[in-house]
Amino acid sequence: MNNNTLLNIAKEFGSPVYVYDADTIINQYKRLTNAFNKVKNLKLNYAVKALSNISILKLFNSLGSGIDTVSIQEVQLGLKAGFKPERIIFTPNGVSLEEIESVAKLGVQINIDNLSILEQFGTKYPNIPVCIRINPHVMAGGNTNISVGHIDSKFGISIHQIPLLIRIVENTGMHINGIHMHTGSDILDIDVFLYASEILFETAKNFKNLDFIDFGSGFKVPYKPGDIETNIEELGKKLSKRFNDFCKSYGKDLTLAFEPGKFLVSEAGVFLAKVNVVKQTTSTVFAQVDSGFNHLIRPMLYGSQHEILNISNPKGRERFYSVVGYICETDTFANNRRINEINQGDILCFKNAGAYCYSMASNYNSRYRPAEVLIHKGEAHLIRKRETFDDILNNQLEISI
Ligand SMILES: *Cc1c(COP(=O)(O)O)cnc(C)c1O
Repeated sequence: MNNNTLLNIAKEFGSPVYVYDADTIINQYKRLTNAFNKVKNLKLNYAVKALSNISILKLFNSLGSGIDTVSIQEVQLGLKAGFKPERIIFTPNGVSLEEIESVAKLGVQINIDNLSILEQFGTKYPNIPVCIRINPHVMAGGNTNISVGHIDSKFGISIHQIPLLIRIVENTGMHINGIHMHTGSDILDIDVFLYASEILFETAKNFKNLDFIDFGSGFKVPYKPGDIETNIEELGKKLSKRFNDFCKSYGKDLTLAFEPGKFLVSEAGVFLAKVNVVKQTTSTVFAQVDSGFNHLIRPMLYGSQHEILNISNPKGRERFYSVVGYICETDTFANNRRINEINQGDILCFKNAGAYCYSMASNYNSRYRPAEVLIHKGEAHLIRKRETFDDILNNQLEISI
């Protein structure tokens, strides 16, 4: 996606706008499948919550991917995009038994992450195979330090509860067909990942009729210079070997599953916003764009540092700016950042905007959510219209006052 392509998109579809590059998504998908080509049965389930546009889902479907979903609405989106139910896994946290039942009735693989629901579900439906989400209590402390942590995490069934879990499975006669972990952002390096995997293998030995082991995600992609990137190739080599050895001792070729979001779509997306005002104060120069945390909340929510380029003036003298939005609340995108000289009307390009950006957008300040564009086979396609005033009023009821 070169600057001219992006500037033309901003001109044609207006700003602010999200732009995604299909080729980058396809390359990341292939990188991951290549890294694990020594595993006989590999299954990638794209985590829908990262970027849930139906055209993006159709792209993943065309690649042979499955999807990982966390709500019945994401399941419905996936079905609408053409995924067969058996290519969908439902990995919710804290949802009702009724929602799990509804999803199970659609023929989707259920993943249960607490003993209370497991017992109720197993009692009612002993014949529906269920995957269980384990919390291995592993996180990276410092660089390579392995520490046992997150004992209070709300996710997963603690490995310390395995004896009770086994008792529930025996008492209900239910069929456990998969073991899963997703440790989120805690795992920074491969050794920690492998360490957690060993705990998963150890747990798997307790269940005789498994079909798959799901290692979740948490793969890192770099946002700013110096950031850690998960070395997928090295992880592929090491984990594949360990997995194949495990399958031998288990006596069955299991499927190795992953459910990446960020790794597959983060770098494929950029966010384009236009500079409304360049405002000099006593201490800093603000560049204020036609957006805010209503469109891209990650910097304010997580302190994420998205690289920002001035694609209207890429050769301009570099100066220091604080890039902020137009929301009536502090909405800082970047503090004291070196950027090519910014003028009113310039288009700024926020990188790594594919994952957890549009999908977290809101109407705060009664602003419209942006448009989304997908570059596919060299052409820019509008895949979501910018909202209009009707969307703001939608579902609001005026009573007589
Ligand atoms: C969010 C989520 C993922 C995706 O995580 P990334 O860091 O985006 O790769 C995978 N599995 C589950 C259960 C999730 O909730």
